[in-house]
Amino acid sequence: MGQSRSGQRKAAVHVPHPGPASAGDRSGLEADCGSCFGLCCVALPFAASADFAVGKDAGEPCRNLRDDFGCGIHSRLRREGFAGCTVFDCFGAGQKVSQITFGGRDWRRAPDSAPSMFGVFPVMRQLHELLWYLTEALALPAARPVHEGLRAARERTERLTLGTAQELTALDVAAHRDEVNVLLLRASELARAGARDRGAGRRRNRRGADLLGADLRHADLRGANLRGACLIAADLRGADLRTADLIGADLRDADLGGADLTGSIFLTQAQLNAARGDAATTLPAALARPSHWRPASPSR
Ligand code: SF4
Repeated sequence: MGQSRSGQRKAAVHVPHPGPASAGDRSGLEADCGSCFGLCCVALPFAASADFAVGKDAGEPCRNLRDDFGCGIHSRLRREGFAGCTVFDCFGAGQKVSQITFGGRDWRRAPDSAPSMFGVFPVMRQLHELLWYLTEALALPAARPVHEGLRAARERTERLTLGTAQELTALDVAAHRDEVNVLLLRASELARAGARDRGAGRRRNRRGADLLGADLRHADLRGANLRGACLIAADLRGADLRTADLIGADLRDADLGGADLTGSIFLTQAQLNAARGDAATTLPAALARPSHWRPASPSR
């Protein structure tokens, strides 16, 4: 999947640098499908649904996966009923497992390693997702009081990603995630405090809220806590989401046309890819406008 599962295969294989990154450095945390053995298209299961035209079991290669680990329908995923592939992000876990953990030996040439490789991939994905969030938190000036703790957590997480396949499989990743989450939450609170102090908006704590299909047009959501909120198909056109915490929020089919996401916290490219939007949506600098978004806002 990557930012779309198994993008076009590149000619050269790039081995990502395993060392610790400097603050704000996201290198190694973006999917490099050309250096991955199509792990998201093999290791993960998916059920036939609106997102996947056909289902498959974990460990079973997708029928569209080519021999060179590229996707045979890469440019037509949405049209062919595989929109789910365009909204998955491994945060660079695929190339780490392929090139570092397994040293470039792919599961086709070394089928004995396949079960272990497919077991490690979901663990590595969680670790890389945490690295992404930690890097995001370190880029928040207001979170300076916890930067030292964030840096230590990032180094610890980076070291864990360099473990052997056996070590990674045995890792209690949920416990590590819980530890890191305490820091991420504190960083979020510090970053959102400014918006709170300005008194903008009401009922800001919408953590885990069920806002499925909610009419939030032009809502003042500055500094809102929307962690894990269900915003599926919500109408957020023209909403002010500056400095809102969107970690884990489900934005599938949410309409972000004309919304302002400047400085929103922990928003990922995969969340944007799952949403709808238009040319008037204002995005955080690190994220790109999905190609399927509308060129202009419909009337509101
Ligand atoms: S259609 Fe199959 S091969 Fe293509 S990106 Fe999706 S899972 Fe991978």
